Amino acid sequence: MMNMSNSLVWFRRDLRAFDHAALHTALTSSNRVHCVFVYDSGILDPLPRDDRRVRFIHASLASLDAELRRLGGFLDVRQGQPLDVIPALAAELGVDAVYVNADYEPEAVERDARVAASLEADGRKFLSFKDQVIFEKDEVLTLAKGPFSVFTPYKNAWLKRLAAMPETLANYPIDQYADALAAPPPGPSALPSLQDIGFEPGEPPLPAGMEGAEALFEDFIARMADYGRARDFPAEDGTSRLSIHLRFGTTSIRHLVRSAQQLVLSGAGGLGASVWLSELIWRDFYQMILARNPQVVDRSFKPAFDALEWETGEEADALFAAWCEGRTGYPLVDAAMAQLNRTGFMHNRLRMVTASFLTKDLGVDWRRGERYFALRLNDYELASNNGGWQWAASTGCDAQPWFRIFNPVSQSLRFDAQGEFIREWVPALGRLSTKEIHAPWLVSAEVLAEKGVVLGRDYPGPVVEHDKARKRTLERFAIVKKAAS
Ligand SMILES: Cc1cc2nc3c(=O)[nH]c(=O)nc-3n(C[C@H](O)[C@H](O)[C@H](O)COP(=O)(O)OP(=O)(O)OC[C@H]3O[C@@H](n4cnc5c(N)ncnc54)[C@H](O)[C@@H]3O)c2cc1C
Repeated sequence: MMNMSNSLVWFRRDLRAFDHAALHTALTSSNRVHCVFVYDSGILDPLPRDDRRVRFIHASLASLDAELRRLGGFLDVRQGQPLDVIPALAAELGVDAVYVNADYEPEAVERDARVAASLEADGRKFLSFKDQVIFEKDEVLTLAKGPFSVFTPYKNAWLKRLAAMPETLANYPIDQYADALAAPPPGPSALPSLQDIGFEPGEPPLPAGMEGAEALFEDFIARMADYGRARDFPAEDGTSRLSIHLRFGTTSIRHLVRSAQQLVLSGAGGLGASVWLSELIWRDFYQMILARNPQVVDRSFKPAFDALEWETGEEADALFAAWCEGRTGYPLVDAAMAQLNRTGFMHNRLRMVTASFLTKDLGVDWRRGERYFALRLNDYELASNNGGWQWAASTGCDAQPWFRIFNPVSQSLRFDAQGEFIREWVPALGRLSTKEIHAPWLVSAEVLAEKGVVLGRDYPGPVVEHDKARKRTLERFAIVKKAAS
């Protein structure tokens, strides 16, 4: 029987035209498929006008439109509130159904429920598909059919489930079904420019779109075998840098897991491939935690830790400002914050170091740091950011134990032993020796002056003493000791 339905595919965090669950399903079950992306004014309005993520999205939409045009279709790009735009466009086009890939963030879930209700009231369907994760929140469970809250057993169960259900990684091809794509209007592509949507023109922070993701992945495959070692050293090019592409779906998580799995099975990926696969599983883990526990957005995963009394007032505000601006006097922390502020990226090891420093050395509430990262990170993604912060603050599931407190100088000596990363991001310390650079306050004023550094003028002295801060933190956490043990 011929299928005569018309449908609309609404792209959100899945900006690609390959291995795409919603687009594939729409194309294989409809006669005509219209593709749309909505610049959501509720999300864009509060952002700075030079936001790097908006530039990335803008460039990725151009790439998606070009690919859809190659296939005979096009991308319709609109601006406004999705609750207004999507039902109105669906009515204008007379579609029977709107297809999306599921988004598990609490606000997105709420938005989708409202859009779905509006469409349904108008006699149209809202169809949502798993695409962003390998397993959704109810798919990997304990033997007692409950949720996991510790990563390693979750990972083992995840791998077992994948082995039992290899079809989970099946590709959702587009090319051979592209005939159903709605043809573009006459004339050249007319996507809105950054200025049209109220932003300053500028380049994305790294190569955008599907081709940008694939180029990064190809480059990383050659380095993957060494990932297990290299991933911990911020001065090395040891990780994939694919996080922003996973965030906006310019690559497919199934494609990455398929490739990593093949490299594990063939042995070509060395030990690094299985370590990298574990990181992709961490991503699913935190997505599952957030989807099952939306309260973690602003509360501790472990409720007992909501009783913690973080520092507040003017002194805490000043310490927080010093942290944000990379003026703590701890070179590795300041270098990491400089990398974040100038590029929008921060290496994973340094996310752990800076988050630990804010919460355990400065005693500042993890939520303040989490919000700052949300503003600055190119790859900001609620589930992983929240999970990472609650891990560092010891308030999360499977978190760093509260009594384990990173020493920022030891971390520096261990993970930037030669001081290369510090020299790159804190040039004021560039002439200090490898021995001196990790703790400049221990170097005599004469030696520092010979190297062009006066503490307090060229580079700050430490804003807190780590040993004292550590003691205060142990006291602060003692109140939850009983509940946590
Ligand atoms: C405090 C803190 C905040 C973080 N905030 C974010 C965030 O907003 N967005 C984000 O994508 N990641 C976040 N992470 C996780 C991790 O730091 C980044 O995913 C990683 O640094 C991105 O670099 P990459 O793509 O080169 O990673 P790779 O090392 O190449 O890893 C591959 C992919 O695995 C996933 N991944 C890796 N590590 C983790 C992890 N610990 N948790 C969840 N997924 C992981 C990412 O999707 C990453 O792109 C955070 C970690 C911490 C400690």
